[in-house]
Amino acid sequence: MSKGVLAVVSGFSGAGKGTVMKKLLESFDDYALSVSVTTRKPRPGEVDGKDYFFRTKEEVEEMIAQDQLLEYARYVDNYYGTPRSYVEEKLEEGKNVILEIEIQGAMKIKEKIPEAVLIFVTPPSVEELRRRLEGRGTETQEVIESRLSRAAEEAEGMEDYDYLLVNDDLEECVNELHRIISSERCKTQRNTEFINRIQEESRGLMKGDL
Ligand code: ADP
Ligand code: 5GP
Repeated sequence: MSKGVLAVVSGFSGAGKGTVMKKLLESFDDYALSVSVTTRKPRPGEVDGKDYFFRTKEEVEEMIAQDQLLEYARYVDNYYGTPRSYVEEKLEEGKNVILEIEIQGAMKIKEKIPEAVLIFVTPPSVEELRRRLEGRGTETQEVIESRLSRAAEEAEGMEDYDYLLVNDDLEECVNELHRIISSERCKTQRNTEFINRIQEESRGLMKGDL
């Protein structure tokens, strides 16, 4: 069995990444979603260990010092980071692992793990983005404005991603994401073990062994 695909999904806050991931995991097997550590406070309904590992600044700094994070970044006054062990374990098991992380972290992953696939999710327009962020109702107007200005910065880095995914109709977006990752998994470079075996067997065929 080939190793899973490491897929990095980024996009403006409010683009719908969380919603898309939840539906992807409900709709298809073979995916594992990495749970990050963060110093931000939980939103109503968020559960420690499921949505994030909510930790203090000191705890996250200790994890950084111990090299337990595959990447980390600061985003609007908080730390966010990806615990390394879960990701490595799930990829070995053949699961496709999704990291839903911001752009600085995505670039660090690309540097460290060139075979990772980078996907950028956007809403169909900025007007729709504001509507979704305000509609979610989980942030103050001030935080919404900081997140929108951060979105403007992140838009400049979109070309560094491998794929663009427009989240207009949710279901179509989820299916498209699944198609991207499934196609990646079929790439010849990711299937060298299988290729070697078939080549070996076919050599036997030429010699008349089979
Ligand atoms: P993100 O994780 O990117 O910050 P969320 O998943 O929290 O974004 O989505 C932001 C808001 O937009 C939520 O209220 C969500 O229900 C809504 N939303 C997500 N996808 C769509 C979509 N395709 N069409 C309309 N609304 C959406
Ligand atoms: P939120 O506070 O809305 O949950 O997340 C804010 C931003 O941090 C989002 O862009 C999200 O993708 C990103 N993020 C979440 N976890 C991580 C992580 O482990 N590393 C990095 N670099 N960014 C993360």
